[in-house]
Formats: sequence, C-alpha cells, structure tokens
Amino acid sequence: MVEAINLMYNSYRFSTDQISLNLAMNQELLAKNKVALEAEKARITKLLSKVASPEAKQADEYAPKFPNEGDTIEDNTLEVEEFQVNISEEATLTDRMDKIKAALGRIENGTYGKCLVGGEEIDEKRLTAAPEADTCVAHART
Ligand SMILES: [Zn+2]
Repeated sequence: MVEAINLMYNSYRFSTDQISLNLAMNQELLAKNKVALEAEKARITKLLSKVASPEAKQADEYAPKFPNEGDTIEDNTLEVEEFQVNISEEATLTDRMDKIKAALGRIENGTYGKCLVGGEEIDEKRLTAAPEADTCVAHART
C-alpha cells in the first residue's frame, strides 16, 4: 500500500515537476535498508573479531591476529599461513565495513539513495539488492 502511494506520488511529481527529478526517497525502503545495514555492521564486527583484535588506540581499527599453533617449524609455518589469511580477511571486512558505515552516514545526513558521482537517484531495485550502494548502475565502479 505504502509502495503504491509512493509510486503514485513519484509519478505525479515526475509529470508535474520535470525540472525537479529529485524524487522523494521511498521511506519504507530507507527504514528497511537502515535495519539491514545495522545488521550487516554487527555481522562484520563479529567476523572481524575472529581474524583481528581491536587496536587499543582506536576502537574502529583492527589489527590482524597472529595465531599461536605451537613452536615447531610446522606450527610456525601454519601460523604464518593463518596470519596471511587473517590479514586478507581483515582487509576485505574492513573495506566492507567502511562502505556500510558510509551508507549509514548518508542515511543520517539525508543524502542516502543519491549517486555519489552524478547525484541522481539510485534505482530502488539496486538499493534493495545492495543497501550500501553509493552510485547508480551507470556510474558503478567495477
Ligand atoms: Zn550516477
């Protein structure tokens, strides 16, 4: 129902106000995506704690964990391998976390759903599939 009203409202705006194509953000989608982003943030925090330890000086930064399997050469080799996995996992997770936090920040400051490159509205289908999306499909970085 809300979706139908939004759709009607948007098409009304579109037909009557061709200059302002800045359509009202679907509030239902916005609320849904905020919940999804918060959940993803919690999930990543949990995953990060497995491969990295929060660095004392900054709560938001993590240092890859160095495992301790034992003291033989085989143990040490295994530790180095695990450490390398932790480093790469930590980098991937931190990257994703940055995107999630940036999206939450855009919800806070009211710019969520707008393409960072061209400023146009990001398609709702895209935002549904990827709540952290910060560009439209045309401006998506690959
Ligand atoms: Zn764009």
